[in-house]
Amino acid sequence: MSAYETVIGLEVHVHLCTKSKLFCSCPTTFGVEPNTNVCEVCAGMPGVLPVLNQTAVEYATRAGLALDCTINNDSVFARKNYFYPDMPYNYQISQFERPLCEFGHLDINVGGETKRIGITRIHMETDAGKNIHEGDHSYLDLNRAAVPLIEIVSEPDMRSAEEAVAYLKALHAIVVYLGITDGNMEEGSFRCDANVSIRPKGAAEFGTRAELKNLNSFRHVQKAIEYEVSRQQDVLEDGDKVIQETRLFDSVKGVTMSMRDKEEAHDYRYFPDPDLVPVHITDEQLESWKASLPELPAQRRRRFMDEWKLPEQDADIITSDRAQADLFEAAVALYNEPRKIANYMTGPMLREINQTGVELKDSALKPEALAELAKIVDGGLISAKIAQDIFSELYANGVMPEAYVREKGLVQVSDTSAIDAAVAEVIAENPAEAEAYKGGKTKLISFFVGQVMRKMKGKANPALVNEALGRLLK
Ligand code: ADP
Ligand code: MG
Ligand code: ZN
Repeated sequence: MSAYETVIGLEVHVHLCTKSKLFCSCPTTFGVEPNTNVCEVCAGMPGVLPVLNQTAVEYATRAGLALDCTINNDSVFARKNYFYPDMPYNYQISQFERPLCEFGHLDINVGGETKRIGITRIHMETDAGKNIHEGDHSYLDLNRAAVPLIEIVSEPDMRSAEEAVAYLKALHAIVVYLGITDGNMEEGSFRCDANVSIRPKGAAEFGTRAELKNLNSFRHVQKAIEYEVSRQQDVLEDGDKVIQETRLFDSVKGVTMSMRDKEEAHDYRYFPDPDLVPVHITDEQLESWKASLPELPAQRRRRFMDEWKLPEQDADIITSDRAQADLFEAAVALYNEPRKIANYMTGPMLREINQTGVELKDSALKPEALAELAKIVDGGLISAKIAQDIFSELYANGVMPEAYVREKGLVQVSDTSAIDAAVAEVIAENPAEAEAYKGGKTKLISFFVGQVMRKMKGKANPALVNEALGRLLK
């Protein structure tokens, strides 16, 4: 048992999927030719005036509502001053003293327990451009400059890497359900900085924190925090002090490395942006956004358990991803066997996602195909084994299962004479096991079923195989 307690607070940046940037009409499209989404405003030319994107305000407010925040009817944009080549204004437009949302919370489930994590604030801000270094040249791409972001800051309420990851996953699911971001972590649409400190168990004060950057996946968050906690323990056990600093995670080496001393708020000389009027949200707007919030993951999970009688674990898995939950409901509407549909999703479908790395939303799987698969297994057209075998065809190539199994000759054999013949062959090939079975080792039945199935390439009707074995092994 470690003598220390871990303390974690997370800062999460989320790209809002508005059509245009925060203060101009440039598009926000990702991956286009460098410097094609740029105008005088987002390039920081002198004399231009920014005009606030109202959809960004709406999206940011929706996030605040979904996280039970207090929404400030009036909030203020501030300039956060620092120099960096990818930031043409020489300041970032952010919110400081009066953010849009404050005092929220998010409940997470870890190890069967529910825990409430405080949300300190959510504010709107602009993203920076990108520096690209090639050989001895450096280039600048301003396509991403001034794309709208929200920053969601948590209280230092998490006590382990597992809790931090659970919080991030829950948060990710919510912002994707809200439809305010594409949530793509590889493209940087959902990014996280982790503040990590340790303190002796029972201590009242927090320890000094390090801020970890460059965490591009849930796995990296987990690894970086675990590494950092053990590094800080070593520092304290050597009688040294942890220093407040920003550290970069190296995902190849699995270590965090010092990047720079942590700057303090006063280093940024924040002040209200004189070019921008306060953001005002009317009570009517707030009411209508609140009323039009979609069903969120926690509610949907509850409903899937109540309405469809899904086991908690299945409901958890399926509702954690909006695309999965939508697929489930669409398939159940076509074939009302929720638990069976759920089994294909938590079984072969998850296996497919893990093996290929292709997320459901990027796959070819259709609800019609999923419903039809469950139906033709129930109807006896194919065995459960064949259903598992062909799942990757549904997932990767969008095939419809019934037409596919007929074309490929995978239809289940229910012809008793063919099954009897295969059973007789298997018994003849395994005389010792047949004797043992007759002598009372009835557990061998599964061995025989397996052999017959293998002989018939998984296509035999299992009920008929069992029946034939019972009869011919007498
Ligand atoms: P900054 O913006 O300078 O990084 P903030 O005061 O806004 O600083 O805090 C950022 C994050 O650090 C918050 O998520 C907060 O919960 C977390 N945090 C603050 N103190 C600690 C600490 N001692 N250990 C771990 N996390 C902390
Ligand atoms: Mg910070
Ligand atoms: Zn622009």
